[in-house]
Amino acid sequence: MAIAAIVVVLFAVRATRTVPHDAARAAARPVPVPEIATRSLSIVVRGHPLESGPPPSEFIGPYMDMLRWELARYPAGALGTLQLQQIVVCDKLTSGGVSFDAMADWDAHILYLTALDLAHEDNHARVVVHHEAFHLLDQAQTGNLADDAAWTALNEAGFNYGSGGDSMRQLGAGDVGSSGRAGFVSAYATTGVDEDKAETYGHLMIDRTWVLRQAARDPALARKLGVLKQRLNGYVRGWGDKLGV
Ligand SMILES: [Zn+2]
Repeated sequence: MAIAAIVVVLFAVRATRTVPHDAARAAARPVPVPEIATRSLSIVVRGHPLESGPPPSEFIGPYMDMLRWELARYPAGALGTLQLQQIVVCDKLTSGGVSFDAMADWDAHILYLTALDLAHEDNHARVVVHHEAFHLLDQAQTGNLADDAAWTALNEAGFNYGSGGDSMRQLGAGDVGSSGRAGFVSAYATTGVDEDKAETYGHLMIDRTWVLRQAARDPALARKLGVLKQRLNGYVRGWGDKLGV
């Protein structure tokens, strides 16, 4: 895996962000966020040749504001557990003609994000940020995204995951409620245990009302929220409790 070319660096910002809804506490405990940059790229990430131009100028401001706001929701110490050093915001990421909303490079500790048009995809863009954050957390803390017997056992008897995220790229697969199957927040969550965890966390962060209402009548999903809370508390004290599940 090698970085072949980095064409243009428009700007890079290292900032200290705070929790917007609790200014007093945030002032006492600033939450550091990774470096955020926007640029074109032509690289190889985890075997995927990845291409992108710089994000459209009209998308940058709103997208950066959204990104920083969502990252500022993490409690002190939580972002450090992701071992994320840089976020690169680009135009649409493509690999072999397939578009990606995001791609994480675990080895380089870089997250590449497509600057989506928030006028049309605000909710989805926010879910993507937290979905990818969970993959980074999972990789950094367990080193194994492919297997998780304890999580898999939370599903209803007889369920088997699909063939991974790459097997389900159609529009709407990540929409909350698109699964119609007990235990899953979206159809995309059924493709693999890694995607199930990332989808459950991402939608809980953004579609909280739906997820909690669904969990009240879906024992498998309720079990997953409980395990999620327990695991996050294990990484950073109080993180899981902040989920309010
Ligand atoms: Zn994913």
